Amino acid sequence: MSAQLLTPLRIERLALEHGMRDTPYVSGRGPEGHPRRTDVPTVIAGVAGALDPDVRPGELVVADRLRTGSVEVALPSAPLLAGELRRAGLTVHVGTIESTDHVVTGEERQSLAAHGSTAVDTESAYLARYLDPRQLAVVRSIVDTADDPLLHPGTLRRGITALRTLRRAAPVLQEWLDACAPRTILRAEPQSFCAGVERAIEIVERALEQHGPPVYVRRQIVHNTHVVAELEQRGAVFVQELDEVPEGATAVLAAHGVAPSVRVQADERRLHVIDATCPLVAKVHQEVRRFTTAGRTVFLIGHAAHEEVVGTRGEAPDEVVVVETVEDARTVKVPDPTQVSYVMQTTLSVEEADVIAGELRTRFPALQAPRRDDICYATSNRQHALRDVAADSDLVLVVGSANSSNSVRLVEVSRAAGAVAHLVEDASDIRLEWLRGVRTIGVSAGASAPAALVDQLIAALTALGDLEVTRRGGVTENVHFTLPREVV
Ligand code: SF4
Repeated sequence: MSAQLLTPLRIERLALEHGMRDTPYVSGRGPEGHPRRTDVPTVIAGVAGALDPDVRPGELVVADRLRTGSVEVALPSAPLLAGELRRAGLTVHVGTIESTDHVVTGEERQSLAAHGSTAVDTESAYLARYLDPRQLAVVRSIVDTADDPLLHPGTLRRGITALRTLRRAAPVLQEWLDACAPRTILRAEPQSFCAGVERAIEIVERALEQHGPPVYVRRQIVHNTHVVAELEQRGAVFVQELDEVPEGATAVLAAHGVAPSVRVQADERRLHVIDATCPLVAKVHQEVRRFTTAGRTVFLIGHAAHEEVVGTRGEAPDEVVVVETVEDARTVKVPDPTQVSYVMQTTLSVEEADVIAGELRTRFPALQAPRRDDICYATSNRQHALRDVAADSDLVLVVGSANSSNSVRLVEVSRAAGAVAHLVEDASDIRLEWLRGVRTIGVSAGASAPAALVDQLIAALTALGDLEVTRRGGVTENVHFTLPREVV
């Protein structure tokens, strides 16, 4: 047995047996319960009472913490299990499950809720005393709430609802048990934040400190939903366009850069602008200005809809032609083929961009290149490290948002190296079916994805079995950009 499912009550076992090959083990009721094994990944499943008023009968609570009295343990498995249960169509809350040696009612129930607990049961935290919390997952289906406590009409009906939910969760729990195995993680280095992203986030943080909320930010400061949500909580207000910003307010321009017309708009609205454009993107804007001032047409190799490309093209919309593909490079027409240059979006796939530039060079022998490569150090370092890792991995997981160009490129680079690769926002996006038969997982993260998300992802995967984590790569990045004077 490489993993076990514990159910404290026989009735919970009956509910779960349907849809499972492995028979859940009845671990016994109350604080005296005991796990069958103490040395394997474990899932505890059963029923519970809700403490949080937003949690209703028949909904699930997945524990990210277990508490009994003053003893508390964290369960890193929560996002992975909750994500899979949600994809199965179940309503899932993630929070602390408190265990008590008696049924709680009235004031005691209120006091546990005030303490921040989401649900209460009579076993999970006690069983956890015997188990490794890093390899423990707990899910409980809600029977009673503060409004409808246990000794109340309707308990039987709510109990049946809760057991039905457990039954619906059973195939997911079977998949969880099937996914349990020891694995190797190859963590590609470098990964996560680049200097441009760190600078952009620090600019917003300092603007919030110096000016107080709200600080307006045009577009996502960097392409990552977690970063944006965290800054939002601290008082940043993200807008699509500057006409949504009150006149005279403070507005930060995102790391991807903007067209000059956006700066004009900011002046017209008398905004206090703080520019978080990455200096490496600003360098590409400068090249476009230099080339077009000299009367040249500029091929901008990149994705037309990406904000960086929209901003760069905005420097000279009539003289900049976006080239997205090799096919575009083969067919693009310009007024004077002897007066042409090219620049690149900073976050392209190094190889693809080289092929496109090569095609342009063949068609336009007088083509002028930028002084230095436009694809930035962070993009090329992350691609280089992951290409090596992907070749030795059964599966590659790239942490990043779908609108993050360099994260999407990392997935493409992995696939080109022969690996099955997926982009995930965080651990909750990992599908257990991806892990079938997988022993080596390559892990990276786009330049806009926080390293903490990778740590959480690895901790969540640990819940499925022992992991040997090896860092692979070697390039040490020590690039730092100075902050704009407005926030120094
Ligand atoms: Fe700057 Fe490159 Fe980071 Fe983009 S990925 S913000 S260009 S360092």
